[in-house]
Amino acid sequence: MIMKIKGLQKQTLIDYPGKIACTIFTFGCNFRCSYCHNPELIVDDGRPEIKDDDIIEFLKERKGFLDGVCITGGEPTLNKDLPEFISKIKRLGFSVKLDTNGTDPEMLKELIDKKLIDYVAMDIKAPLNFYELIVNAKVNKNDIQKSIDLIRKIKDYEFRITVVPGLFDENHARMIGEWLKGSKRFYIQQFRGIKNLDKSFEGKKPFTEEELERFCIVMKPYFEKCEIRGI
Ligand code: SF4
Repeated sequence: MIMKIKGLQKQTLIDYPGKIACTIFTFGCNFRCSYCHNPELIVDDGRPEIKDDDIIEFLKERKGFLDGVCITGGEPTLNKDLPEFISKIKRLGFSVKLDTNGTDPEMLKELIDKKLIDYVAMDIKAPLNFYELIVNAKVNKNDIQKSIDLIRKIKDYEFRITVVPGLFDENHARMIGEWLKGSKRFYIQQFRGIKNLDKSFEGKKPFTEEELERFCIVMKPYFEKCEIRGI
């Protein structure tokens, strides 16, 4: 089993709703979002990888103290051995939350069918027709839509978007609302211009709280729950 893992947060109360969890950070992504706040997981900065066996050993020791495991990145589904890795985690009795950009619906389907994931958080980048402008990569729109359709059928999931001035506005909020209407949870996430993939985003002013609230008012009618995160 080969997993490219470059980070482990041993405990988090915020990454997995309702659970005391740890977060595993996989290396590598097929997108290049300028605002990405995990550049060290996109471009190799020489930090060593963490062996998957060491993660499993860590989890064995944490049984009873943690109840969930978040797997984030980067883009975790780029790891072909992800289903096998998660099987090992599930066998230890943990709930698993997967963060994904939704580019691999086939793997997502396998994970859902095999009951390997309990919660999925999918990043929405923009209205579908504007995706490539945000992610700076070729996008298979069909795959994104397939992932959304799969995720909407499971019990626990969320869609979320990181909003950056100049890349998002009320019109986008409405278009995304129309696109995903009827979904369970949608989070509008504040951008942090502290450490970004595109250095020109560092120091960039985020939206004000009032602006985020306006987006939330636009989006709320489309979802069972729509909230702002990160302010
Ligand atoms: S924000 Fe997410 S999808 Fe975009 S480059 Fe970073 S890890 Fe990849």
